[in-house]
Amino acid sequence: MKSLVCTKPGELRYTDLPEPLLQSGQAIVRIRNICICGTDLHAFEGTQPFFDYPRILGHELSGELVEFDKAPGFRKGDDVTFLPYLNCGECIACRSGKTNCCVKLQVSGVHIDGGMAEYYSIPTHLLVQADGLSLTEMAMVEPFSIGAHGIRRAAIRPGEFVLVMGAGPIGMCALEFARLAGAELIVTDINLHRLDFCKHTLGVPHIIHAGAANMIERLMEITRGDMPAVVIDASGNRKAINQGLNYLAYGGRYILIGLQKEELIFSHPDFHKREATLMSSRNATREDFERVIQCIKNGMIHPLSFITDRVKFDEAAAGFPNWLNSSSHTIKAVVELD
Ligand SMILES: [Zn+2]
Ligand SMILES: [Zn+2]
Repeated sequence: MKSLVCTKPGELRYTDLPEPLLQSGQAIVRIRNICICGTDLHAFEGTQPFFDYPRILGHELSGELVEFDKAPGFRKGDDVTFLPYLNCGECIACRSGKTNCCVKLQVSGVHIDGGMAEYYSIPTHLLVQADGLSLTEMAMVEPFSIGAHGIRRAAIRPGEFVLVMGAGPIGMCALEFARLAGAELIVTDINLHRLDFCKHTLGVPHIIHAGAANMIERLMEITRGDMPAVVIDASGNRKAINQGLNYLAYGGRYILIGLQKEELIFSHPDFHKREATLMSSRNATREDFERVIQCIKNGMIHPLSFITDRVKFDEAAAGFPNWLNSSSHTIKAVVELD
């Protein structure tokens, strides 16, 4: 089968690999849509921490269920998506339902090979029914679930001001779920095109350029002196994350969806006087996937509005350098297989 292998940073190569064979407890999916994520782009760029090459990328996937061993409720030929987080089912996190942060977690396209191939094999318990969604919407369920999970952690109350730092697709997905939770939205990024997208397509009322020298004054003005009750980092930028605590209201919650590899440094008194809550938000769970699917079905979120680039599998390798280029105006690219 045709596969696209990231052989080393900056190099993607189409390679003919054997098709996966059906194994006990596994399902084989004929991949139809692959959405391209920041993780894929950073792996290609060579800036993704803890990444080994060669690696087949791709974890935002949908396709046709061709074969499976024990998958109650599923039929051959069903269009499906799945959780790309392979968990052990036995560790303390798994036992308490936090499969998203399993001690032995392996994420498709990160720790193990992903789905940029004609066929992909995954444990059947990760399959997700998404009847009624298009294949592209199904492939977009994963990134929306990341945003939904972060917002679920934040436990937003209607009317609270929520600042999202970073207007990449994950930040945008977080904004969408913060909106559904009744938040007053504020977004900051260095990319003006993305801020513009947030304003005009997502209807975010308050946008602030991340380079603005008067950031704190702007936030004071917007929140009428309170500052945001919730700050969400979706930038993964160390400077932004260290700075974010200064934007948080007293009694507020600070949620880190983005990840970087250095230590975080902020003032203990600044943290303490706020009685701030600091949380990380990792991946998502089945509950988040199901919530996202329901919201797409009900027309509460519109994943297709994020898709700016659509290419065939043959054109995917050539697409990567463009999608990485911040002046390319790409929000989300999708690769289609016949
Ligand atoms: Zn992703
Ligand atoms: Zn586990």
